[in-house]
Amino acid sequence: MKKWYKQLHWQIIIGLVLGLIWGLAASVLGFSAFTIDFIKPIGTIFINLLKLIAVPLVLASLVVGVTSLNDMAKLSRMGGKTVGIYIITTIFAITIGLAVVNILQPGDFLPPETQQELMSSYEGNVEGSTQTAQQVLDRSPLSFFVDIVPENFFSAASDNGNMLQVVFFAILLGIGIIQIPIEKGRPLINFFDSLNDVIIKIVDLIMLLAPYGVFALMAGVIVDLAGDDLGQALNLLGALGWYSAAVLIGLLLHVLIVYSSLFKIFSKMKLRDFFKAIQPAVLLGFSTSSSSATLPVTMERVENNVGVDEEVSSFVLPIGATINMDGTSLYQAVAAVFIAQALGLDLSIAQQLTIVLTATLASIGSAGVPGAGIIMLVIVLQAIQVPVEGIALILGVDRILDMCRTAVNITGDAAVSVAVAYTEGLLGEMHLDDD
Ligand code: ASP
Repeated sequence: MKKWYKQLHWQIIIGLVLGLIWGLAASVLGFSAFTIDFIKPIGTIFINLLKLIAVPLVLASLVVGVTSLNDMAKLSRMGGKTVGIYIITTIFAITIGLAVVNILQPGDFLPPETQQELMSSYEGNVEGSTQTAQQVLDRSPLSFFVDIVPENFFSAASDNGNMLQVVFFAILLGIGIIQIPIEKGRPLINFFDSLNDVIIKIVDLIMLLAPYGVFALMAGVIVDLAGDDLGQALNLLGALGWYSAAVLIGLLLHVLIVYSSLFKIFSKMKLRDFFKAIQPAVLLGFSTSSSSATLPVTMERVENNVGVDEEVSSFVLPIGATINMDGTSLYQAVAAVFIAQALGLDLSIAQQLTIVLTATLASIGSAGVPGAGIIMLVIVLQAIQVPVEGIALILGVDRILDMCRTAVNITGDAAVSVAVAYTEGLLGEMHLDDD
């Protein structure tokens, strides 16, 4: 076991706190210019790296996700059931997230002047976004669907492109691959599978920079905002506190309402017993922030302790670790609305519905690795015309929220495996005593 201060999540938390202290000190002691010239760019590099990896990550993980369904052709009934329940729980998660963030309004903790300042610091993009927003208003109701379909993959994937178009292309490619004979499709599947693994490694590398990136981003945000006015910086911290509270309350409500209802309908299991049985997997998910890394333990607990037959768990859980991310989708909904609120942008009902659709897709496309959810948040922000740079606002607190949402992602996978096993008559006895 590594010493605590060598563990990435602690390093990130330390980076966050030091960045905060640096930003506040810079504003008070007058080295804001140095911070803006020499510290803030490190944060920009970190964000650029995250953006750089987003397109290949979406492409590879979605192609792998879609083509992996092919192997289960013989289990299509179970497949349909599994994916169906996964999508329904995801939609519930997003709805709960939207309800909580609209009630708590964490972004409104920033006074209007601060919101305007933030907005103007993203000027170029904001101008673009406002223009695009106007164009969107002027267009036909079906233009959303027209926009999803790219006329050229490379422009979709380019700097000014649209991530949703990349998602569309990836799904189409995956479907195409499983339509051809397996011996012909195999090289492509292997290619994307290997690309996926490579990207996950690159994400790991980028995450090594995270403590410094978070430090620089936090310091930069505070200095940008504080200037001579420290009060503004404190407002931002207050808003971030409420934003984190909104995510955590949403996650808790989702577990209590959705998973216990799922058990009421599909099994007679008690939520508390279920938690006892899967606890090590949930804790591992919390400390690794990775559904994929936790998968072996999740499978072991679900089979041996919860009593789900291996036939179900070995198929429901690996798919779940890739496509079922209730915690991530809920967080993406809260984060998108929070960023919009913090920038003083009002979201229409249509935009909130767009969040339901895009956060469902974005969470399906998020790999089960640390920080994947925040990269895919780009899709949601782009779809609702909110400047992607707003991600910088929430990056500082992201690791802690990542830990919590990953724990919920894992709980969701395990809960759905119980439901599927029950309906298939493959749910056995629970064993709570052999820890
Ligand atoms: N870390 C999450 C997971 O592995 C994904 C995310 O970033 O939300 O489940």
